[in-house]
Amino acid sequence: MPDTDRILRVAVPTPLYQCFDYLAPARENVEVGARVQVSFGRRKLTGMVVDLPGNSDLDSSALKPVEQILDHKAVVSRDWLTLCHWVADYYHHPLGEVIATALPGALRKGQAAKNQLARGWRITQEGSKALNEDKRLARAIRQQSILRFLNDRGETREESLKADTGTTAAQLRTLSDRGWIKATTLGAEPARSCHPGPALNTAQQSAISSLLPDKHGFHPGLLEGVTGSGKTEVYLAIARSQAKAGRQTLILVPEIGLTPALIARFAERLGSEPAVLHSGLAEGERLHAWQRAARGHAEVVIGTRSAVFTPLARPGAIIVDEEHDASYKQQDGLRYSARDVAVRRAQLLNVPVTLGSATPSLESLHNARSGRYQHARLPERAGNAAAPHSEVIDLRRQPMSEGLSASLLKHMDRHLAENGQVMLFLNRRGFAPTLTCHDCGWVADCRRCDIQLTYHRNHARLRCHHCGSDRPVPPTCPECGGREFQAQGVGTERVEAFLKERYPDTGLVRIDRDTTRRKNALQEMLDDVGSQRARILIGTQMLAKGHDFHQISLVGILNADGGLFGIDFRAPERMAQLITQVAGRAGRGKRPGEVFIQTHHPDHPLLLGLLRDGYAAFARQALAEREAAGYPPFGHLCLLRAEATDSQVPLQFLQQAAATARSFGSNGLDIWEAVPAPMERRAGRYRAQLLIQAQQRPALHKLLDQLVPALSKARLARKVRWSVDVDPADML
Ligand code: ADP
Ligand code: ZN
Ligand code: ZN
Repeated sequence: MPDTDRILRVAVPTPLYQCFDYLAPARENVEVGARVQVSFGRRKLTGMVVDLPGNSDLDSSALKPVEQILDHKAVVSRDWLTLCHWVADYYHHPLGEVIATALPGALRKGQAAKNQLARGWRITQEGSKALNEDKRLARAIRQQSILRFLNDRGETREESLKADTGTTAAQLRTLSDRGWIKATTLGAEPARSCHPGPALNTAQQSAISSLLPDKHGFHPGLLEGVTGSGKTEVYLAIARSQAKAGRQTLILVPEIGLTPALIARFAERLGSEPAVLHSGLAEGERLHAWQRAARGHAEVVIGTRSAVFTPLARPGAIIVDEEHDASYKQQDGLRYSARDVAVRRAQLLNVPVTLGSATPSLESLHNARSGRYQHARLPERAGNAAAPHSEVIDLRRQPMSEGLSASLLKHMDRHLAENGQVMLFLNRRGFAPTLTCHDCGWVADCRRCDIQLTYHRNHARLRCHHCGSDRPVPPTCPECGGREFQAQGVGTERVEAFLKERYPDTGLVRIDRDTTRRKNALQEMLDDVGSQRARILIGTQMLAKGHDFHQISLVGILNADGGLFGIDFRAPERMAQLITQVAGRAGRGKRPGEVFIQTHHPDHPLLLGLLRDGYAAFARQALAEREAAGYPPFGHLCLLRAEATDSQVPLQFLQQAAATARSFGSNGLDIWEAVPAPMERRAGRYRAQLLIQAQQRPALHKLLDQLVPALSKARLARKVRWSVDVDPADML
């Protein structure tokens, strides 16, 4: 090596499990954590310097020089890199790809890491309210559209607001004089005036003292509080106490939970603008929020899954809201759980971490019950709202109309007559899950997946909900030429059509992926619910979370049976969480709520336990079943997946993987047989999977440490797409 060069060890975003050494002139002082551009094969990639080794394993004449040094100074801190190393080890994923996932897009693509201050605007709580009810807005279309824009987008730079909506300075002044919008300085130190909020009740106070000990340090806690019990007030108090001590709080929320109203609540109560990170941001906005956090300009950082990687200059506390939510687990690429990474990060940073939920995951409950986590509870709703009354409707031999039993319809009639609001939940969109020929029995199947096409009657189309295939309903049966099709089963569109006929004069909205595609559509429908223009809501799980509807008096769950007999061992847990969360929408205001659950299995022990004794009792029973089966949290799982257009190779690859794994020894491990995935063909690719189960986590990781490198060298590895899923969230 010429002594004018030094070696940089670079993590590059490739599926390969190692880092690569490059040369840089010695006079260039490049820090660990800086980015460089390197040539890799025939491509140029942006990588990150992760080490400055004295020697390389390769001969120096074989080392290539870096193409370009993008930063000399680190753009991330050492603790941030330590976290990425941990994630790479734990999820058995290449470090370069972990770093690429964790960086904001702009930095990942090699853009300059500069920082500017910019003026921005956001809607206030009064503004949100005015949007729903203020009469002055009825004829002020311009003002209304500016408010709606800010309501949907959240905090926005003044430039983009002007560019995107044609807003003038005078309009901004009018709105801000009314207190409906507020100027913010993106990137600056916060202003210091805040609303005090309600006085905390004793349950909230004791929760805070158990979640935040006197001495700062790693301190994991579970905050279990029914919907509306005041968990968010506890988060606010934690963030405030950290801010007082000059420290930042990182708050993770599920995808659907990050509403402008929530952000406004934090901003107003803390008297400073949170840095907000979610997938809907433009790249520049995301980088900006990331840098405000990294430089300590934001006291609170609030964001969805990948925000767990936001750097913090003065870390104080981490909070994960709705910690059981499935959106925390990334389902492709780096299959990490943001909740679990958050706990590990808190440990590395030596700060307290709080996981909050009305329906905690069985993993977190187990940690709390075994004493690893503090367990704080908010058993009652804050304010005066009473808990709803829940009841099962036995569907056996009941007359049914489009998925609704006669008894449920009777309850609906009563609530609507008393001016109540009704919410119906059905986890299946479209008109019907099956379209069949009445003459010959032909069924419309997806050509690329092992699944039937869903019939969407409003658009006269057949759609695959797994690969997105979409085609018109054929005029005649492709098998026999028959003209009579039958729609079998019930989706939200079908329920909607039926209810429109039955209650022609009652406002109705349907909320699912089909009706909310258009920008603002969801917000408009929620506004209709808030203002009582809509008295019936029908929707999928999009309805289950977050929205604070005060007038809902009846909740109907149209079909609970899927959760009782799903192929996934987590299906009952998900069902119980959903029922509890959906039921939590009832009676949040002054009106007491009623919840009805339709099922063909009214005596199912899990359902009975849930309704009679609540989620905690359900969880106890479900945990006992998990323990008996050696499933998480009592055992530990890893799912290897492989897929290819060839129907045989994925299975062969995993059969070999199983054999290799057994050859490494299987003490304390259960290496299952490789099998076709439950839905074997999806989007034209055949899929197989191999489950590895371990009693102890170290044994699992020890095996993967050997197995993963061996698999990446396997001959068949180049013929399949394969992945490692540590702690899989679903088995499909
Ligand atoms: P959660 O996050 O558990 O759903 P929130 O913190 O959003 O609950 O509280 C639900 C409602 O109760 C909110 O309108 C909130 O302002 C109110 N609230 C919370 N804590 C108190 C309290 N101590 N006194 C009065 N109202 C409260
Ligand atoms: Zn036919
Ligand atoms: Zn398909």
